[in-house]
Amino acid sequence: MNMRDDFGPKTIDAIGKRASYICSNPACRNLTLFPSIADNNKFIYVGKAAHITAAAKGGPRYDESLSSAERKSIDNAIFLCSTCADMIDKNNGIDFTTDQLRCWKKDHQEWVRNNLNKSLNNPITTIDGEHIAKGKGNITAIKTTKPTFFKPGTRSLAEGEGNITATHIGS
Ligand SMILES: [Zn+2]
Repeated sequence: MNMRDDFGPKTIDAIGKRASYICSNPACRNLTLFPSIADNNKFIYVGKAAHITAAAKGGPRYDESLSSAERKSIDNAIFLCSTCADMIDKNNGIDFTTDQLRCWKKDHQEWVRNNLNKSLNNPITTIDGEHIAKGKGNITAIKTTKPTFFKPGTRSLAEGEGNITATHIGS
């Protein structure tokens, strides 16, 4: 009898797509899927759906409080390249904690959302007219964190005491 709680094909498919087939280790981020040069019908795939807590007793980060269904669910999966998938399990996983891997997974999905598909997630902001920062303290007339188009004639003025900023671009 197979005692491993392996992921099903739907989970393996979804975890790779959710990561855009890019390794979730922030120090790696290798693309795991690319076209074969030799054969137009083929691709090279080096991605893996890795277990955050082990699929079987005695494995890296094994958590016996999980049910079999939880252990094979997508919540217990992280998408990595094959090198990083091997790396996190070396010495039975002592260098990579469950919390760290969950953090990689969450951050990676955010990184994909924020850095890929720029046109969807970062539509250009348009600013026009006159913006004045006047007074005392922390005052900013124009603050933008996204790519911004300033219409001709846009003015920003700052005057006062303290930290008065006319135009702030960036986070
Ligand atoms: Zn990697």
